[in-house]
Amino acid sequence: MGKRKINNSDMNRARYNRLKKILQQRKLFKLVCGAGNEDPEEVKRLAFIFTLAGSTMLDLSANADIVDAAAEGIRKAYEIAPLLGRDIRVKPYLNVSIGLKGDPHVRKAQINLDNCSKCGLCITVCQQKAISDDCKVVKYRCIGCGHCETICPKAAIQYISKRLDFNKILPLCIQRGVETLELHAAIDDDKAFLADWKIINNLIQGNFISLCIDRSLLSDEHLIDRIKMAYVLTGERLIIQADGIPMSGSENDDYNNTLQAIACADIVGKSKIPVKIVLSGGTNRKTGLLAKQCAVGVHGVAIGSFARKIVKEFISQDKFYDNKSLIKKAVSVADELIRVNLEAIGD
Ligand code: SF4
Ligand code: SF4
Repeated sequence: MGKRKINNSDMNRARYNRLKKILQQRKLFKLVCGAGNEDPEEVKRLAFIFTLAGSTMLDLSANADIVDAAAEGIRKAYEIAPLLGRDIRVKPYLNVSIGLKGDPHVRKAQINLDNCSKCGLCITVCQQKAISDDCKVVKYRCIGCGHCETICPKAAIQYISKRLDFNKILPLCIQRGVETLELHAAIDDDKAFLADWKIINNLIQGNFISLCIDRSLLSDEHLIDRIKMAYVLTGERLIIQADGIPMSGSENDDYNNTLQAIACADIVGKSKIPVKIVLSGGTNRKTGLLAKQCAVGVHGVAIGSFARKIVKEFISQDKFYDNKSLIKKAVSVADELIRVNLEAIGD
């Protein structure tokens, strides 16, 4: 009897079951390339390094070119892995992040040059190198973190938040290999939240979808009510990304920075809604350990700013792909970040 042909739906189910197991085993590590990061070369290099290091998910901007860049980074990682003696156990899941209008993850900074004194403080503080010497924001690099606005003495920085047509852009991303979606929903607008949540539920019916929320604009009760609303539509496919202080992870590798993420996860866990919980927002090397010390059970850790910061010196080199020792160093730094977190939450 011939073997049954494996079709797309079998593959999708296998990938769903694999992700479910990864979450049950508390082994999800998500590298956040940045919901607003539209720099294809940076994303390709990040995907390359973190695939080799064992990241199980890559979080990307809702942009087909960026999805292609990440896929190319993964392909390159598979190509070089045997030469580096590395075994890639799980092909990373590609996740695309979108946000409610106004959510910090999907905004871009804009400088009002009439108010700007050209002091240069914003240029120095911007980790993304997204502000030019003549004080203009390079949009594709800006991730909306807000560090420039905080430091600006002239209040010359505001944000613009463009509403994407999700029904147009997301199917394009899915065609290119995206398997899961995430909605950043920190904004206090339930009607807008439900409308967007329905869209992503319709688009991804056979895999997990993630709701990223924090406590900056929602009360603890409101946060739980929103999770309940999401759970009604999504059931066991729901991941809650418990965000501490969004995009604050580049600051310090300490407990204080990661504390809010643990507090948010604790509230979600105590609600007893049977969702999977992933920590984010200020996450660093200490995150898993702090969750363990606080007895807060989580299923994964997502790291963005901090993860990007620790590999930056390697991936920003010109001849990066030709330099095996540079690649090895970057992979080793990323590997350690993943390992310390997953060992701590998995105990
Ligand atoms: S500091 Fe953050 S918000 Fe400001 S330009 Fe840089 S990336 Fe954008
Ligand atoms: S910090 Fe403010 S005033 Fe200084 S260069 Fe930047 S935008 Fe201009």
